[in-house]
Amino acid sequence: MFKGPGQAGILSVPEPSNTAGHLLLKVRRVGLCGSDLNSFRGQNPLVSYPRIPGHEIAATVVENFSKHSRLGIGTDVAVSPYTNCGECASCRRGRPNACQFNQTMGVQRDGALTEYIVVPPERLYPAKLSLEELCLVEPLTVGFHAVARGRVTADDIVAVLGCGGVGLGAIAAASSRGAKTISIDIDDDKLALARLSGGAHGIHSLRDPLHERLLELTDGRGPDVVIEAVGRPETFRAAVEEVAYTGRVVYIGYAKEPVTYETRRFVQKELDVLGSRNAQPEDFRAVIELLEARRFPVEEAVSLMVSLEEVPAAMGSWSDNPPQFKKIMVHLD
Ligand SMILES: [Zn+2]
Ligand SMILES: [Zn+2]
Repeated sequence: MFKGPGQAGILSVPEPSNTAGHLLLKVRRVGLCGSDLNSFRGQNPLVSYPRIPGHEIAATVVENFSKHSRLGIGTDVAVSPYTNCGECASCRRGRPNACQFNQTMGVQRDGALTEYIVVPPERLYPAKLSLEELCLVEPLTVGFHAVARGRVTADDIVAVLGCGGVGLGAIAAASSRGAKTISIDIDDDKLALARLSGGAHGIHSLRDPLHERLLELTDGRGPDVVIEAVGRPETFRAAVEEVAYTGRVVYIGYAKEPVTYETRRFVQKELDVLGSRNAQPEDFRAVIELLEARRFPVEEAVSLMVSLEEVPAAMGSWSDNPPQFKKIMVHLD
């Protein structure tokens, strides 16, 4: 449990009781990503304390109390951590991933870094995958959703700013749609992982001149689609500056400060500027298909595996040196 900024500890909590219509799951693996690190450090405005983290989840069905689910005891599943109200403008438009009143597990309400959780059947995804692969489904869906928002096709050249977990998902998704994908980061390890995920070209934007390299790789036009997965003012602006005329810009990064723009670029280039948030059920299914086809470097994507007891210490050392880990996975067996 994150008790407050910089404070993590192991506590005893009651077993979940509200099981009617739901499934009782034993949690097996939980992935921790940059947003959990922000929560731990007190830098996630959506999080209040105390909070049990955990939104990247692989679990096993222990009991099924739902009339609408045939999932048997012992089935391994990936879990969608989102909720939706069913009433807001997004929900009415069939886009519950952007529900105004969404409460993500581990963010606005307690998450899965605990022994048992109770989840309604529509948020469970069984698949022919290992526990580690099931645990990677949710983080990859976020990038997959951005690629869907950007309407990426095989005719597009797609540039992805930021090759963390979310950016990697976008690279894998764009590549699996047949697009030529350009990965951009300032970390050689992340660029190597991006290549393994399907990225055709990599640009180290501190060493290489970003603008010139992008023009070289796109016959002087700029990328058809730019996906921003960093959340910094420079990358927010670069997306609009570098994208081709009449291109599409998709923002996934959550900027912590206001960003100033040369807004005439929106008009001049007649851009589609799109936000992308969380993921839809079809994004979960698309990621599962990719993982079942073994087209993602699962082992390389996880930098550290720890037990539940080791999480507080691991969060502390991650916070002291953030580039040290890409993703920490917790095993609860
Ligand atoms: Zn995450
Ligand atoms: Zn809603």
